[in-house]
Amino acid sequence: MNPNDLPSPWVLARRAARMNPSVIREILKVTERPGIISFAGGLPAPATFPVAEFAAASAQVLQQDGAAALQYAASEGFPALRERVAALLPWPVDPDQVLITTGSQQGLDLVAKVLLDAGSRVLVETPTYLGALQAFTPMEPQVVGVRSDDGGLNLDDLRAKAAGARFLYLLPNFQNPTGRTMGEARRAALAELAAELRLPIVEDNPYGDLWFDQPPPLPLSARLPDGSLYLGSFSKVLAPGLRLGFLVAPPALYPKLLQAKQAADLHSPGFNQRMAARVLEGDFLERHLPRIRALYRSQRDAMLAALSREMHGLDVQWNSPDGGMFLWARLPRGHSALELLPRAVDAGVAFVPGAAFYADAQDDAAAQRTLRLSFVTATAAQIDTGIAALARAIRATGPRP
Ligand code: PMP
Repeated sequence: MNPNDLPSPWVLARRAARMNPSVIREILKVTERPGIISFAGGLPAPATFPVAEFAAASAQVLQQDGAAALQYAASEGFPALRERVAALLPWPVDPDQVLITTGSQQGLDLVAKVLLDAGSRVLVETPTYLGALQAFTPMEPQVVGVRSDDGGLNLDDLRAKAAGARFLYLLPNFQNPTGRTMGEARRAALAELAAELRLPIVEDNPYGDLWFDQPPPLPLSARLPDGSLYLGSFSKVLAPGLRLGFLVAPPALYPKLLQAKQAADLHSPGFNQRMAARVLEGDFLERHLPRIRALYRSQRDAMLAALSREMHGLDVQWNSPDGGMFLWARLPRGHSALELLPRAVDAGVAFVPGAAFYADAQDDAAAQRTLRLSFVTATAAQIDTGIAALARAIRATGPRP
């Protein structure tokens, strides 16, 4: 018998069987083909990366603090960076509450490990960030989607589903995938309801600084310091390759998150943390953020103009996000975004079908008509060409019989 015919000696853990490839990462492989205009990725625009500042900071760190930067370090994070994070947040935060993470994606993983058992109920927006579902699912929770609309989470649906939930995971600012922002009144009502129900909130805010006309309302964590856990990221304001994010945890939770972090990777890269702390010194963000905002706003405007022009006569709907990187669109009745995708790719354009972001309603006909369009990595000219190609693909596809 050929030894290759033997059953594999490796037995997978139950949680591994629940791990799935990210639909988006699979789509991204297709869109990396030359010539495809991609509205699919969640990548920030490379033109916004502060390369020169990091070149200078890296030389300074290595010269002045080289051995420490290359040594093992504290799991909590580099003190100067923790202090800077606390100072940048718009509510009083003690640096001792800040845990530097290897991207905010690691924050989601730590939250899942510390707060979810098999069968635990966890509430998410419908739709929600796919990477959070990927982080939560291996813990074998029951993920329950709460309805949302253009103004954010539906609080009646939340009340109906909240009993016994470990936490609600939510993105109040320029949400991924919809670009939606929860308004002031809804936040106030949600904070009140969460306090009444004793429902903890995990607030993910990687896009909050990328507003176009005015800043979004204060984070929920500012209203619920003990009832919320806040996740932040440097990926969209500095560069994702640094893999630096942070979480702000109430003192009751911090030690467990820290222990989970120690098990995961001991600490986030000390060299990167020192460079980031140096780049963030002084008024760097005050100069840098307006440039990102202006660029992304012009790209959003280009996409809105192209959609109005090209989708004429088609019953396609879309929103106009006030910040962030994504726009959310809905195809005419009877259409499926998943079926449209290969035709769109043949026409030279890619997007992410929206159903992937629905935790428990992927088969819903309304979910299948949705798609996420990133407007930040294509130029205005590419946006024009790409949206025209998308409109052609929609016209050619027609509704399902
Ligand atoms: N949360 C949300 C909502 C995101 O969109 C992303 C990145 N796409 C992350 C977390 C993870 O970001 P990072 O690990 O780069 O900080």
